[in-house]
Amino acid sequence: MAAAENGDIFELEGYGAVGFSKDQPVRLTRSQTLAMPHGSELMMLPDRALVAYNLDRDRFDTLTRNPFAPDEKIFPVAVFNSPGYVNRYFCAYKAPEDAGPLPLFSYGAVGFGRNHFRSAAIQVDTEPRQDLRQMPENKVIQGVGHMQKKYPNNRLMRHLETCALQYGCPAGKNFFLQRYEAPLPTSRVCNANCLGCISLQPGPGLHACQDRIAFTPTAAEIAQVALEHIFHVPRAVVSFGQGCEGEPLTAHKAIVPAVQMIREQTGQGTINLNTNASLPEHVKTLCQSGLDSMRVSMNSVRQKTYTAYFRPSSYTWEDVLKSIDTARAHNKFVAVNYLNCPGFTDSEKEAAALFAFIRDHDINMIQWRNLNYDPRQYVAAMETVAPGGPILGMAPLINSLKQTFPRLIHGYFNPPKERF
Ligand code: SF4
Repeated sequence: MAAAENGDIFELEGYGAVGFSKDQPVRLTRSQTLAMPHGSELMMLPDRALVAYNLDRDRFDTLTRNPFAPDEKIFPVAVFNSPGYVNRYFCAYKAPEDAGPLPLFSYGAVGFGRNHFRSAAIQVDTEPRQDLRQMPENKVIQGVGHMQKKYPNNRLMRHLETCALQYGCPAGKNFFLQRYEAPLPTSRVCNANCLGCISLQPGPGLHACQDRIAFTPTAAEIAQVALEHIFHVPRAVVSFGQGCEGEPLTAHKAIVPAVQMIREQTGQGTINLNTNASLPEHVKTLCQSGLDSMRVSMNSVRQKTYTAYFRPSSYTWEDVLKSIDTARAHNKFVAVNYLNCPGFTDSEKEAAALFAFIRDHDINMIQWRNLNYDPRQYVAAMETVAPGGPILGMAPLINSLKQTFPRLIHGYFNPPKERF
């Protein structure tokens, strides 16, 4: 299938769907795909040539024009899969040498089967936490009105209103819908400079998806949001470290007393920290103050490729490992927010490092997150730093992790402590 210049998507007769892993095209088969998940979005890639499988000639063709109407330009189509689905392959396209990076989304491979779109993806989480069909806008607006009356002076709640109503953030919506997990953004700054940071993109070419919070909420404001959620939601989760902020550990002066305030009032609920785990001393204080779980974002567990993506300004990979060991030493639940990209994550060297990392640091869960970055530029950048070697495949990688580490949880969402 292809997209026309006006964005219409149509099937290309005589051509089969293709995905990419590193720089290798792969023909998509029915067994490697599933019905495109509800809530996924299809994207046309401008300034890119599509790669399709010519069934008659039994070869991969690179196309910029419709073979049946040569004056018509055509473009690749990618899928931004819904939460809980890991990309097996990324979209099959070729880019001109001087092409800038694609916007900050993940670009999964997709085809058209019988009468529906099919994603080359693997489901890792079935929870409807961010299923938009269960998040009606009118209920969100009602929830906002309710909180405005109940907490007229809480600036953090006002910030979450923008997240829920303007940015359409599912975590923000869930707070006002009083379901699952509530966000606790706190930090205006970060001590890393990720290539694909969604809250700050200082350089030309890429744009952040949302602005960072412009103030540091007080411990009382944070605790009020958290307790409102914990007291009204069964098996509630409240999480520091959201897309609309920097690194929460840099706001430790606010979040440590907030956690203490929450735990003075209740032992209920799960207090979670989504973090780059850069500051082990503050992780220790949070563990001693009542934190329940920590989710550490990383694109790789190899120091060189981690550093090439996160570009830490004031911490090291060793600090990240120390934070994880500190949390595990306090018997806290530790998940890795694994920013994955087919063709890199499932490379031999990355896989071997991941197995060793899990053995050495006894983490509890891998949350598989499709990396929101131009996959071809990303793989090329990582290969330049530390080549990954032959490709194993995302499904074989996940299956062998399950066999080797049967107690390791695979998923997408931060679990409540009742499911640790
Ligand atoms: S750790 Fe988070 S906030 Fe910091 S640069 Fe990376 S993505 Fe951005």
